[in-house]
Amino acid sequence: MNQEDIRKLTERFVAMRQASAARGPTQAQAAQAAPSAAAGVAPEAVRLSSAQLSAALSGLSVRAPARVFTARDYQRFLDRILSLVEHVKGYEDFDLQDKAREVIPVDELHAEAHRRQEAEPGSDFDEHLMRSMLRWFKNDFFKWVDKPPCDSCGGSTVAMGVGPPLPDERRFGAGSTEIYRCESCSAITRFPRYNDLVKLLETRRGRCGEWANVFCLVCRTMGFETRYVLDFTDHVWTEVFSNKHQRWIHCDSCEGEGAYDTPLLYESGWGKKLTYVIAIGVHDIVDVTRRYSRSPEIWQRRTLVDEAWIRPALLSIAMRNRFSLSDSFRKELAKRDLDEQAELEKAHPTPTATESVLPGRQSGAAEWREARGETGGK
Ligand SMILES: [Zn+2]
Repeated sequence: MNQEDIRKLTERFVAMRQASAARGPTQAQAAQAAPSAAAGVAPEAVRLSSAQLSAALSGLSVRAPARVFTARDYQRFLDRILSLVEHVKGYEDFDLQDKAREVIPVDELHAEAHRRQEAEPGSDFDEHLMRSMLRWFKNDFFKWVDKPPCDSCGGSTVAMGVGPPLPDERRFGAGSTEIYRCESCSAITRFPRYNDLVKLLETRRGRCGEWANVFCLVCRTMGFETRYVLDFTDHVWTEVFSNKHQRWIHCDSCEGEGAYDTPLLYESGWGKKLTYVIAIGVHDIVDVTRRYSRSPEIWQRRTLVDEAWIRPALLSIAMRNRFSLSDSFRKELAKRDLDEQAELEKAHPTPTATESVLPGRQSGAAEWREARGETGGK
């Protein structure tokens, strides 16, 4: 979706909201604004089916807008998502997947998954494979970095701040570089926050950004349909599509094999106050917050944009990436849209007993987790 389309979408939407605010909107009118806004973006190109539109509308009429939002609010919201929409296309790159295959122990992971499956007859092979991948990634492959060890002597370091990346660091997608000084030899160690996947397959270290980025590539390389999940309160993880269960499954590489299909980990386990959780795949971009939160207060924390705008806007962007697909796959995706919406709209009043005993955050040093308040909500 280009800047012009976004401008049109948001301006049209803002105009409608202002008009209906002037009339004093009923909830039904608020809901009416949504499909026209989606259709306002080059309707001949977007072509939302009526089923998709009604899916986009379901659940919208319950929440009236908190205030009148401006085009700038919508633009700012989309800015957080659009670069990732481009980024996830990178996971489809065959050369990149070949590079990943050089470092992923594919045969061993398959053998491990088979062993796990034999121990539980009738269970889902893909689930065991994902758990094996999560185990390997956390325990054997990627390294968590709070403060990097000194490049010269390996001693511990203290943080000095953040600086601009050097040209060589920028070349591999670093937007910023953290600077550390050694407590023993005073040498300076640079920690560039790389985005480039080839570089990250080599450095194999970082925090959740680097972890989720590389793990998404690993999942795609291993044949899973994959989404990159952005939590606006500063975390990222992965979702993979389960063919057996026909639904998207939460996976967090930072937390290892236990973090498979435990979406309430952050709210119930870490004590996070979530706001927006957006899943970004090559064919769909979805507000999946309801999968990750059962807190009724979450709606008061969502103050960035009009609730009624989110789903049609994200759907319009996603539709752009479906043009080249076969009719049958497009139909399947439309069915999945509806199924997922139904899953997300399902009422989940309170976490079950198992869900409310999810652990606090495991990744990162205790001090760092403490400072973020993510060691547990209880
Ligand atoms: Zn040193």
